[in-house]
Amino acid sequence: MTPNKFVRAVFPGSFDPITNGHLDVIQRGIKIVDELIIAVGDNPEKDSLFSGEERVQMIQELVKDMPGILVERFTGLTVEYVKSKNAQVILRGLRNLTDVQYEFQLALTNRAVAGVETMFIMTGEKYGFTTSTLIREVGRFGGDVSGLIPPNVYDRLKVKLGSLSK
Ligand code: ADP
Repeated sequence: MTPNKFVRAVFPGSFDPITNGHLDVIQRGIKIVDELIIAVGDNPEKDSLFSGEERVQMIQELVKDMPGILVERFTGLTVEYVKSKNAQVILRGLRNLTDVQYEFQLALTNRAVAGVETMFIMTGEKYGFTTSTLIREVGRFGGDVSGLIPPNVYDRLKVKLGSLSK
């Protein structure tokens, strides 16, 4: 490894919305790399609750005092975006074996089609079951998700779900 090499990583995801689990990966990740770009995209398999702009804003509020972290919206192929940013590596989080199976396939594909490497960070034990999907679903039925998402996200979720139920 080249000593003192500047490492820029991209953490891509839909972050719909960002959870304490994502934040945990971000906080661990920035200890390893010099710059981390949180890249907010759209997963074609999932309908999003928050708009891209809202998702970016919520993350920006959370990382504004964290040096080395940037937030951007992106469209298209993740590997193309990674290359356009001159980043060396993709960062992804792992919660369980189901994630491993899916992420393994994704990482191998990204390396095969574009030569882009992926690194993984295991989530903090507390967040092993936290998913954005679960937050959206439990939130819709009025369940208390306040311990799983940051306060700014909780406030926006209440407003969003309130306006949806009208
Ligand atoms: P995507 O739609 O690309 O899967 P997500 O926003 O759901 O986007 O997830 C982005 C990344 O964050 C993925 O690598 C996912 O495994 C990881 N992640 C999501 N929730 C957690 C969590 N609770 N702990 C650790 N990693 C997580």
